[in-house]
Amino acid sequence: VRTLRELGEQETIRLLTRGAARADVVVGPGDDAAVLRSDPGEDLVATTDALVEGRHFLPAWLTPAERGARLATANLSDLAAMAARPRWALLAIGARGEHEVESLLEFQNGLAAALAPEGAVVVGGNLTAVRSEEWWSLTLLGSAARGRTWTRAGARPGHLLAVTGRPGRAAAGLALARAAESARPDGAAGPAADDEAWRPLLDAWLRPRARVSFALALSPANAVTAAIDISDGLAGDLARLCEPGGVGCDVQAAVLPEDPLLERAAATLGLPVTELRFGPSDDYELLLAIDPMKRHAAERAARETGTPFAFAGRFTDRRGELSLVSADGARQPLSPRGFDHFAGQR
Ligand SMILES: [Mg+2]
Repeated sequence: VRTLRELGEQETIRLLTRGAARADVVVGPGDDAAVLRSDPGEDLVATTDALVEGRHFLPAWLTPAERGARLATANLSDLAAMAARPRWALLAIGARGEHEVESLLEFQNGLAAALAPEGAVVVGGNLTAVRSEEWWSLTLLGSAARGRTWTRAGARPGHLLAVTGRPGRAAAGLALARAAESARPDGAAGPAADDEAWRPLLDAWLRPRARVSFALALSPANAVTAAIDISDGLAGDLARLCEPGGVGCDVQAAVLPEDPLLERAAATLGLPVTELRFGPSDDYELLLAIDPMKRHAAERAARETGTPFAFAGRFTDRRGELSLVSADGARQPLSPRGFDHFAGQR
């Protein structure tokens, strides 16, 4: 077992940044900086995200490779929300000297394996010695045809709200894991989370996939007027999507994708399903405003990329107002934190 202290910074960085040879990487890892070649007529799109030990994950629940994949997904999802093609990544790590090199390489392999199918490669990085909490930071660069990125601005009254996947599943996975951990103080997997039936919910939390291919398939149709990825929860991110356009949104309860597994988890956890579905949850799904004339293009892109996709409501001229509208037309406020359980109570 080798530690970072034994191997040294230079050699560790060399191991962490192998294999970036491709035409758009003019100078790869090993020099003072990477030289990247973007294409004429394209905009460069940049995002960054970090994981901090003890804050963003429960170590017992994530292997180093899964942690790497998750960091990649958080960044990939931001580029998907902008309809940008992922290309180049810079990885910065703060690690303790006693960190095992093998586990760091596993982390890197998980990260690179998540980036590769979406077209991105690590072109450089930095390794810093820390004494306390470790952290992992990824900067991801992508490209998009000039002026064609999606943004959060642009939703207008009458535009359709669309959502990919089944939001709330990541929250359910995390809640199940927490419930299991509190049942087993040693931190080992408890009975609830061990149940294979919950696997899709745990995967949604631990092994999310960004909607890159769907976004890239949909982008040329010019159907999307505003977009955001769900990193904090459906209601909270919907509020962010409404704000720049000065609009509100009616979420139609009846047309939200049904999710019996999520409902079963909510019952097991003793939570209202609306709390899981609308409250804090890092699902890395996309929330989109769609031009109603182009709804078929959106459905086609979803079909072609095998992406679960549903229209879930309509943007309104009621600035900042989020409502959950039931099948009979009854309207209840959705707070940006999620479903407001106290609304209407006296
Ligand atoms: Mg985002």
